[in-house]
Amino acid sequence: MACARALAQAGVAVTVFEKSRGTGGRAPTRWVDRETTPPVGFDHGTQYFTAQSYDFLAQVLAVERAGAVAPWAGRVVNLSYGVITEHEITEHETGEPAVAASKWVGVPGMASFCKHLALGLDVQVQSRVLGLAHGPQGWALDVQVGQAPLAETSVAGFTHVVLAIPAEQASVLLKHTDPEMAATAANVVSGITWTALVGLAKKTGTAFDAAFVADSPLGWVARDSSKPGRAPGERWVVHATADWSKIHENSPKDQVAQQLFDLFANAIHTVQKPDFLSAHRWLYSLPRNPLGVDFLLSKSLPLSACGDWLSAPNLESAYLGGHRLGKHLVAQWCLPG
Ligand SMILES: Cc1cc2nc3c(=O)[nH]c(=O)nc-3n(C[C@H](O)[C@H](O)[C@H](O)COP(=O)(O)OP(=O)(O)OC[C@H]3O[C@@H](n4cnc5c(N)ncnc54)[C@H](O)[C@@H]3O)c2cc1C
Repeated sequence: MACARALAQAGVAVTVFEKSRGTGGRAPTRWVDRETTPPVGFDHGTQYFTAQSYDFLAQVLAVERAGAVAPWAGRVVNLSYGVITEHEITEHETGEPAVAASKWVGVPGMASFCKHLALGLDVQVQSRVLGLAHGPQGWALDVQVGQAPLAETSVAGFTHVVLAIPAEQASVLLKHTDPEMAATAANVVSGITWTALVGLAKKTGTAFDAAFVADSPLGWVARDSSKPGRAPGERWVVHATADWSKIHENSPKDQVAQQLFDLFANAIHTVQKPDFLSAHRWLYSLPRNPLGVDFLLSKSLPLSACGDWLSAPNLESAYLGGHRLGKHLVAQWCLPG
């Protein structure tokens, strides 16, 4: 979305194809009740993001003025063998000076951030790109659209294609189009994350709002309802570690949800039974060996890629990579902007 915005701002006609029902990617919100104000949901992917570079901070502050993001004052700690220490936000490898250490979240849910970035853009949701072909008329995409029954269609006439999807998915799409880029993407491996969404009837009284957990299959627990603009209640998001998630890769969802809840209840010392319990598996969660570059340009075709498998596994780096790719293409095409 960052790339599409940079291009659109320079007057380029851009179409974004998104396979899911909504935008947000790995920074989404799972809504469980949209009838209330604010709606009830869980941030089941990205938990919070930093804005440590000037470019990204400027964008985040603009979205804050529109009310779609806000700083989260939640107390984040390290929890190791029951011992709590404060967690300091460290500077990401953005190559820019640190200008802010706030923890930012979308309002009323994480998905609001990307939704705001998408405003004014031509975004085709429920549109999964299955194939790419380049010919004299430019690019043609095979796109699977809608919910079941799914239909397949071909959309043609694009001068350039940007892939902003996880490495594993990019390598499949690029296999027959640009084998060299496909091989580069295939070298990047993502971890798996199992996530549990927990709703409790009563407050837990836990002394922290989120914790990086060191001594358990849990990597992270967060009181989602402590974020700004959220519906009242006691809702927690629990991320398992990559190792535990890999071992349980193919375990049934309900079983994983219960196992993670038991570990969570033990970690925060609650005897409550969950009011709401669900699990989500992130198959391509975080790239383990990102390339450390903003973006990748094809050597032979009008084709490029951005995303966290190129830059670094966090929202700010993914944004910056996309934004800089958009700016690079605008400069390459000698457009004002
Ligand atoms: C569990 C979890 C926790 C995280 N926590 C944090 C955190 O606290 N802070 C932080 O900064 N970062 C966090 N991250 C990382 C952050 O979410 C990612 O780095 C960032 O969202 C990557 O953005 P992206 O645009 O590269 O990819 P994505 O967000 O994955 O976006 C790619 C989009 O492409 C779509 N897509 C894929 N294939 C196709 C196709 N063939 N056709 C059409 N559409 C397609 C997908 O549906 C998706 O919407 C977390 C990630 C996970 C999974």
